[in-house]
Amino acid sequence: MTSEALSVLDRLGKAEGRAIYDPLLNVALEPLRHHPAVEALCSDPRCRRRVAWLALDNRAAYVAATEGRAKPKDRRGGLSDLAQPQPRRNTGLLPWIELAENGLTSVRTVDFKNPAGYPLRLKFVCRCGRDYTTTNTHRLRDLITAIAAGNGRIYL
Ligand SMILES: [Zn+2]
Repeated sequence: MTSEALSVLDRLGKAEGRAIYDPLLNVALEPLRHHPAVEALCSDPRCRRRVAWLALDNRAAYVAATEGRAKPKDRRGGLSDLAQPQPRRNTGLLPWIELAENGLTSVRTVDFKNPAGYPLRLKFVCRCGRDYTTTNTHRLRDLITAIAAGNGRIYL
């Protein structure tokens, strides 16, 4: 399953813009949608703190992220594992995007207004001072590779 998703992604080259809705890529990702959220760690060897949790979107070839996770009883894998804003202030946004837009957590949006309708680039800010701006393609490749390896974490 994961090797199929990687080979479709390799053929596409990128999961940016409208390519996040590519039918073949999304079919290949279907079995991974409810995989538990994967930890994203700071890659500075002196730090290695957890910066965020990553999960695959429910319908697009898109990797979402939040600093924390949902309450244990609410986690059913995939997006349900990600933190929710308490309280919700903008129900027109996906919960995790509302968190990223408020700029108060380790996950920030970089380019919300793009034709894909998702903030494709996300910036991760570690407490050590390092930050990482990632493309969706990079997050997707890392997430699929981690799941394929049976690994619950990636390095930013
Ligand atoms: Zn760090």
